[in-house]
Amino acid sequence: MSDANCLFCRIARRAVPADIVAETDGLLAVTDINPQAPTHLLIIPTEHIPTLADVSESHTPLLGRAVHFANRLARERRLTEHGYRLVVNCGAAAGQSVWHLHWHLLGGRPMTWPPG
Ligand code: AMP
Ligand code: ZN
Repeated sequence: MSDANCLFCRIARRAVPADIVAETDGLLAVTDINPQAPTHLLIIPTEHIPTLADVSESHTPLLGRAVHFANRLARERRLTEHGYRLVVNCGAAAGQSVWHLHWHLLGGRPMTWPPG
């Protein structure tokens, strides 16, 4: 459920300071410490799930809530008109560096694909 050595578990327990901008059932939104866009939030489940590949059927409601939460944050930050990106990096080769599932919500600048 929670991993004592995991940075995002520690943020969820308020054991490590972070800019928590919003909270909903089982999820936090935190300002990324190294932002890649004018808006760069992390959507973090309070449950310790190491990667997207560890998601199971029982997480289905949590995943739905995460997307609704991200959409609400995007609307509140007026990202909807110009678009925004919701990204999960799964595994080191895909760029994952913190082993606790999270979504990146990015917006406020034009974005190309693949990301540079
Ligand atoms: P990923 O590389 O997809 O695992 O994303 C991890 C993200 O966490 C990166 O964008 C980091 O900048 C961000 N990050 C690392 N430490 C912190 C922290 N203490 N508070 C907020 N964001 C962090
Ligand atoms: Zn964790």
